[in-house]
Amino acid sequence: MENEFRELYQDIIMDHNRSPRNFHKMKEATHVLDGQNPLCGDHYTLYLKVNDDQIIEDISFYGSGCAISKASASVMSAMLKGQSIEKADQFFKLFQKIVKGEVDPAEYLDKIGKLAAFSGVSEFPIRVKCATLPWHTMHKAVHGSNEKVSTE
Ligand code: ZN
Repeated sequence: MENEFRELYQDIIMDHNRSPRNFHKMKEATHVLDGQNPLCGDHYTLYLKVNDDQIIEDISFYGSGCAISKASASVMSAMLKGQSIEKADQFFKLFQKIVKGEVDPAEYLDKIGKLAAFSGVSEFPIRVKCATLPWHTMHKAVHGSNEKVSTE
């Protein structure tokens, strides 16, 4: 990993782990779904408020887990607030490629911003599930699943 991304990775994960954005329960949510990664002990509930135009008006999460899962959920929540479900799905696909090291984050930096920080996860395969857990949970929730998400 290039130094530029190593620093970005560390800064963003530390920052979002220490002060996670949108870290609270949501009473007015239209979608609520649990996600867990038993291998690491990450366990979060994701809350989404989606309007009739399929826009994510509000998103929050609550629970506990490692720094990477928490930072990933936090960055995701900040990124998806106000976005359409279609856009959220596009980010989800791109994020999966980023954490698997399948895209060069430098090429996408303008489009994905802080998501590029998670390219560092590709060096630690065991952490990929931590990083993608919130995204899998979001994806299932907005597409109408009530089934709890588990990475195992
Ligand atoms: Zn984890």
